[in-house]
Amino acid sequence: MAEQHVREPDKGRAARSPWLVALLGLSFGLPVGVMVLVGGPSAVDARVLAAVFFAAVVAEWVNVHVEFRRQSFHSSASELAFVIALLELGGAWTAVTRAAAVALVLMVQRLPAPKVLFNTAVAVLEAGVAVVILGWLPGGDIASVLTWVACLVAVFAANAVAACFVAAAITLTEGYPGRPIWASLFTPVVVVSPVAVLIGLAILLLLHAAPWSWVIIAPLAVALVLLYRRFASVTREGQSLEQVYEFARRVEEVRPDEAGTRQIVQAVRELLNAERVALWLPPYLDEEPRLVVATEDGAHWYDGPGDPDDVLRRRAVGSSGGVVHVAASRADAAEAAALARRGVSDLLGAPVTTAAGEPGYLEVCDRRSDLVTFSSSERGALDSMLTHVNAAIRQQQLLTRIRYDADHDRLTGLPNRQRLAAEVDALLSDGSGGGRAGLILASLGTYADVTDTLGHAASDELLLVTAGLLREHAPPRALLARMEREQFAVLLPGLSLAATERAARRLREAAATRVRVAGLDLEVSLTIGVVAAPVHGADAGTLMQRADVALLAAGTSGGVASYHPVMDQQSLRRLQLGTELEQAMADGRIGVVFQPVIDAKTSDIVSVETLVRWTHPRYGAVPPEDVIGLAEQIGRIGAVTDHVLDLALARCRRWLDQGIALSVAVNVSARSLADVDLVQRIKGALDRHGVPGELLVLELTESSVVDDAVRESLVLEDLHDLGLRLSMDDFGTGYSSLSQLRQLPIDEVKIDKSFVLTMATGQGEAFIARSIIELAHNLGLCVVAEGVEDEMTRNQLMAMGCDKLQGFLISRPLPEDRLEKWLLARTGVRSAAPGATHRRLFVRT
Ligand code: C2E
Ligand code: CA
Ligand code: CA
Repeated sequence: MAEQHVREPDKGRAARSPWLVALLGLSFGLPVGVMVLVGGPSAVDARVLAAVFFAAVVAEWVNVHVEFRRQSFHSSASELAFVIALLELGGAWTAVTRAAAVALVLMVQRLPAPKVLFNTAVAVLEAGVAVVILGWLPGGDIASVLTWVACLVAVFAANAVAACFVAAAITLTEGYPGRPIWASLFTPVVVVSPVAVLIGLAILLLLHAAPWSWVIIAPLAVALVLLYRRFASVTREGQSLEQVYEFARRVEEVRPDEAGTRQIVQAVRELLNAERVALWLPPYLDEEPRLVVATEDGAHWYDGPGDPDDVLRRRAVGSSGGVVHVAASRADAAEAAALARRGVSDLLGAPVTTAAGEPGYLEVCDRRSDLVTFSSSERGALDSMLTHVNAAIRQQQLLTRIRYDADHDRLTGLPNRQRLAAEVDALLSDGSGGGRAGLILASLGTYADVTDTLGHAASDELLLVTAGLLREHAPPRALLARMEREQFAVLLPGLSLAATERAARRLREAAATRVRVAGLDLEVSLTIGVVAAPVHGADAGTLMQRADVALLAAGTSGGVASYHPVMDQQSLRRLQLGTELEQAMADGRIGVVFQPVIDAKTSDIVSVETLVRWTHPRYGAVPPEDVIGLAEQIGRIGAVTDHVLDLALARCRRWLDQGIALSVAVNVSARSLADVDLVQRIKGALDRHGVPGELLVLELTESSVVDDAVRESLVLEDLHDLGLRLSMDDFGTGYSSLSQLRQLPIDEVKIDKSFVLTMATGQGEAFIARSIIELAHNLGLCVVAEGVEDEMTRNQLMAMGCDKLQGFLISRPLPEDRLEKWLLARTGVRSAAPGATHRRLFVRT
């Protein structure tokens, strides 16, 4: 049903039909007119003729409802004039006066020519039918009952024929409207016209009996007309109420989308019987402003509703807004100009409430009837319809909001991954830009640290600042999106791989700045993965997955990396390892090995370094650097540190239980040092295992120790206060000078194995090792050499005064059971030093 109402108007048919209808009227009206006139008009009193013509004009004028649609085409007042004319003037003059009156009135009211022709022809036809019937039936004397009956039959037949013509005309112009048309056309024929005929007869009888009776009849007629009009307006109000109900019903059925909006506008147009209705809606979220126009001859855009300065729209949506009615006849100059711009003469304008913070505007132009203009009842009807329009628009905007939220990031308001994917696919499938596009995936380096140390509010702020920087420096046509967590993406339509790489580098440099977040100066450093279509893929899924791979590679190579197929294998493995890390720790598949460190002079075992090992069922032994790098990348390094610490202290505890005091060393990654609760966690672990702090060594890398943030945080002091030893690992590879160490609570330095391994052959390395040992001793620090593989190196180091040795020469890192055997085979237990509770181990040489 709703479908039928809203089907698009057929332009060709609408333009053709009025003339077709006129032709239909004429083809019947003309012959009938000729036939009636052939008898020749009888001689009549000119005064009577004039009076009847005048009455016919007035009757037509007062109540004409000659529309093809919706309203009855006939009125009781013209019926009255018709009866009087028939009996007083005869058929020919009736036809003439009636046709002339109809034509005159309709022309004055500027009805289109086809409509005038049709209605005039129907008037002639009616007269003809009445004349024929009156001729057949007996009667003639106004006082005779037979005449009265004849009159009733004749007028009834005339009206019935006319109603059939109107029905035909409607069917021709609009298609067959269904059964209700017969009820609406024939009810007046059956109910109203007999009454009119009877009144007409009564008036004639009175006039014949007493010519002066018009003095009584005239005021009575005026009163009757007024009553009728009142009745008609009540009917119309009733109709408009019905209209609103029907409207509400139809609006409820429409879908909350673009097509639904058009249906609503179309429904307003049909129910208010308007030529044109336009709905303007303000921009909302990512939607552009919309102008939806419904017209009889197909939608076309027109100026006015979209113009915020338009005087009519301003009045409707203004502060005192509401439905406004502007008619050309009563318009001031500005209003008249606004009407003229639209090419209309009668307009209803109304505000539409929206969720956009700005009202929309609904405009209804020109009644489709040329005879009736909008009245207060249409205004009221529109007012009531507005409630439903508003509700429908709100409903639509709610859905728009839900849709928008689903594919936008809450925090930054940027499109999310899902939306980006849709945009990429749309871009690549529409063929513009030759299927070329660059995609940049950027990861914010400091995000995890900021979240861990400063909390989510600060990292959110950092994300917002970064989004701003990216927006500012991205090329103009780029689409910026926020992916999960610390990742952003930039889609660059039409760019080649080389151009995308250049853009990525520029973006990285431009964004590399210090920004103020949560009262601190933080660095924005981006790692960027680059892919381009079509070289790396032709759909969003492939491109985004490969951008992920490129980003991972960029993370290890630093800066910007473009995708390359060899990356896939590696990254797949990393991805899988990342997801399994936690479970592997729980299942004990991530364990540790121990590597002894001995005293260079006494060969006593002073400690064992705990080194992480992961034996993966599919990938075999995962290198520790990979385990640590991966854990850092997915933010689980803290858990790994705790796991290793736990295993190390548990081992230490068992030695203590055997009466042996042997230190354990644990590596702490730079990232872990930034954890605010690191000190607490280490203290907790020591307490849990009942191991004194003196038996724990933490190995920290040089770069992490000299980092400003670490130095400011006093974490080293706090760790030192727990009684444990701090060892600076990989010394010599960083850029710190030994003098910088003076201010830090460091106990020992570990000369990096890269110097030790090549010492025996390279002069330079030996010199560096010697310098480190001397300077460290001057600062009162203990020196450990790692990577001792041969006797010569060992002797060199001992000659230089190095304090401790670690390396394959002494022992490879060993799993726990083999370490036990190694200890048993190679070491003796010295008795406890005087005053000490635990014994010491030494290596038999
Ligand atoms: P590192 O802390 O410098 O550990 C010493 C590395 O040198 C170990 O490698 C060890 O097996 C190796 N090594 C010892 N003696 C010799 C030698 O004479 N010759 C040679 N060529 N190598 C020797 P591994 O176990 O592969 O560990 C590599 C790195 O992984 C470690 O370097 C450390 O930075 C990191 N790592 C290992 N376990 C952990 C851990 O539990 N936590 C953290 N944060 N890092 C760890
Ligand atoms: Ca180490
Ligand atoms: Ca080392």
